[in-house]
Amino acid sequence: MKNPAASELQGLRLRIQHHGQNFLSKVRHELARAIPGACLLCQQDSTGPVCDKCRQQTVVRKIHRCPRCAVAMSAPAAVCGQCLRHPPAFDLSFVGFCYRPPADQLILALKFGHRTALASWLGQQLFDAIPDRYWQDDAPDCLIPVPLSRQRLQERGFNQALEIARILSRLSGVPVWPDATERLRDTQPQASLPLSERKRNLHQAFGWRAEQGVLPAGRHIALVDDVMTSGMTLHEIATMLKLNGARRVSVLLAARTPSPGDAL
Ligand SMILES: [Zn+2]
Ligand SMILES: [Zn+2]
Repeated sequence: MKNPAASELQGLRLRIQHHGQNFLSKVRHELARAIPGACLLCQQDSTGPVCDKCRQQTVVRKIHRCPRCAVAMSAPAAVCGQCLRHPPAFDLSFVGFCYRPPADQLILALKFGHRTALASWLGQQLFDAIPDRYWQDDAPDCLIPVPLSRQRLQERGFNQALEIARILSRLSGVPVWPDATERLRDTQPQASLPLSERKRNLHQAFGWRAEQGVLPAGRHIALVDDVMTSGMTLHEIATMLKLNGARRVSVLLAARTPSPGDAL
């Protein structure tokens, strides 16, 4: 039988899709009422937002992933077919877990419920998925959260990518540059557009804020986000960073859809 928390969150997800962003304040209120001290996925007693049993089912490490875009692969390979045909502007990616039910509810709860304990949990899972050598051999100079549009930031009140980046920073010692990149214009939510229009929607949508006093030239920059689907947003930001001289761009994600075509 489906657990009640899962049903409730699935219901919220459908209502968000139907009612759009204006519905978010109501959703936030409903999620704020979620029971403290219980696992978000099974509602059993838990010291953290996810119990150990659900964590083991959600965070499966023994998956082959494309080193470049972190998509799941059936066997190890240098890169996936997509990266071979159309290499993204970023160089490598790491991901905490697959974005699929029921674990997708954790990302929704973070976005729409503002659960800071969940950001800590997601950040920790991501950190655990990144090999030590990443931080030792060619550590990034900074962590940059994927920016939200001004309008979206106002509606939500926080950037979930920044929440995760802060946790990674605490665990790795690499600083966060929260305002180094910006959205130059409001874009349509990628999930609302057909695949063919997503690239155009994001073209030159991001910029580097030089007034921050730091420059990307010669640096290794790690972009942080909650979920990657097609990867186009991250590709656009990485393109902008490389045009500004970034030496290397890596991508650190709490979750990733099993394949790029999967809708959110
Ligand atoms: Zn559980
Ligand atoms: Zn790939």
